Amino acid sequence: MDIRIGSRSQPETEVLIVKRKVIAIGLDSAPRELLSEWMANGHLPNLKRLRGQGGWADLKGVPFGVAEASWTVLWTGCHARTHGYWSQLDYLPERYGAAWHYTYDYQEFPPFYALGPSRRVCAFDIPQVQLSDAVNGYQVLAYGAHSPQTARVSRPADLLDRVIEQHGDHPAILNDFARIWRADSLKSLHKRLVTGAERRGAICRDLLREDDWDLFLTVFGEVHSGGHHFWHLNQPDHPWYQYPASIKEDLMLDTARAVDRAVGTVLDAADENTAVVAFSQEGLAPNNLDIPSMAFLPELLYRMNFPGKTCLDGTASPTNAPVPPEIRFPISLGWTRDIWARRSDDSALRRVLRHALPMEMAQKVLRVIGDDPDGLDYPKNHDCYIQVPLWYSKFWPQMKAFALPSFGDGYVRLNLKGREPNGIVHPDDYDAVCDEVAEAILALRNPRTGRPLAADVIRPRSGPFEDDAKAHPADLGVLWHAEPADIAEHPRHGRIGPFPHRRSGGHNDHAFMIVRAPGIAPGSNLADGHTVDVSATILDLMGLPLTGNRDGRSLLPRHVTSSVVA
Ligand SMILES: [Zn+2]
Repeated sequence: MDIRIGSRSQPETEVLIVKRKVIAIGLDSAPRELLSEWMANGHLPNLKRLRGQGGWADLKGVPFGVAEASWTVLWTGCHARTHGYWSQLDYLPERYGAAWHYTYDYQEFPPFYALGPSRRVCAFDIPQVQLSDAVNGYQVLAYGAHSPQTARVSRPADLLDRVIEQHGDHPAILNDFARIWRADSLKSLHKRLVTGAERRGAICRDLLREDDWDLFLTVFGEVHSGGHHFWHLNQPDHPWYQYPASIKEDLMLDTARAVDRAVGTVLDAADENTAVVAFSQEGLAPNNLDIPSMAFLPELLYRMNFPGKTCLDGTASPTNAPVPPEIRFPISLGWTRDIWARRSDDSALRRVLRHALPMEMAQKVLRVIGDDPDGLDYPKNHDCYIQVPLWYSKFWPQMKAFALPSFGDGYVRLNLKGREPNGIVHPDDYDAVCDEVAEAILALRNPRTGRPLAADVIRPRSGPFEDDAKAHPADLGVLWHAEPADIAEHPRHGRIGPFPHRRSGGHNDHAFMIVRAPGIAPGSNLADGHTVDVSATILDLMGLPLTGNRDGRSLLPRHVTSSVVA
């Protein structure tokens, strides 16, 4: 029922906020600055329309743990330090290893949209959550989300099957990867993403008609998947700009256009009294995460512990030799396998076998013919095989410091006496070793540009023996400069690489939110905030508080908040 009320803080202003219904559209990792440019240039007419009708807020994403903790921060309204979920992978100190964790358990802090029996909620394809008993309505997980980290399930149980039967499956679900050096692979991914976005738009339109939802929530993941693989096709300063040359189209912009059309379908289905929120949880940037965190960092720490030795291609000591050319076409089929094939080894036969055979088969054959016992080991937990830092785990007990697996920032763990089972760093030396490692990381340069790779090295923990299960496991966190690098050089430990780029797009903490609601001036700017504030803002539009000692706060102007009657 619509209610016409005036603002309590501005009684002379007539404000229409009524049924407190909200449609919230997540734009997974949408590039904030590019999005604004594309809207201004008319490429994204539906988002431009929404922005013109509402208010815009710049949001800051997670300062540490980008790409891993972002969604959980948004769904809980809590900073990662509050909920304690930092990554999809858990470090297991008792066995110097790691295991998949998947999503946060949402026990202490349920998702903000778990609003109990009094509110009808549809949560369609929300990444990195679990089904909640406190949602009165529909829940669909992993229809087509990027990195859903959950099983494909729904409540009601038959809803996901019904959606797929009516609209078709998302063609990129768990298949949103491409080999960025191959035109056919990029084009195929683009086609899957465009089709998926179209289907998601039609599904949302139909689900919106099925009930009088108090909150309708969905996330478009296609720009995230496309951004990882198509970034270099759009960005002239990327070293792989418009490579391969046979691709003439801007696949990244075209993916964003497909999402914009689907958003238009959702907007057209919304009535005028329904508030609309569009938001992102992080941004897109040149990929400065994959190679530095997964390859440069573990190799540097290995070389610091074992001077003169290398595990991956490069030089064990400084050199004045010309910088090798970029590797634009890997010698093996995929990026991980290519890095595996670039394992340091004096045996030409073993190198050829690693190039030619699938990783697991190569490992078996090499055990039979005799592998280099001093080399990297393929991780026994195959789920984590992509994580190059784990290939070094057999050395961790002998190392003072080693790199933890990461999909984002760089993480360094010290092998500390009294904490790790075979700790070798005395607690009295903790600060000195942290400083030594940080200094070495900060000395890394990209020899192609001469610029440093790391922008900062931080200490995420309050101390080595911090007794808080919610603390990040890393003793040091590495924030990399936003410049993609395929080769690293250290003044004492030589060159590491070159390696082919895995994905051209990465992440930064540039997020945003658009709010269209009665009382918010068209085209206005809201207060800047943090992604932790999105949930509180959505609930505020509905006249509800974010309860339970959470960190988020509403970014709505006070006269809008005060006009809502719960
Ligand atoms: Zn990503």
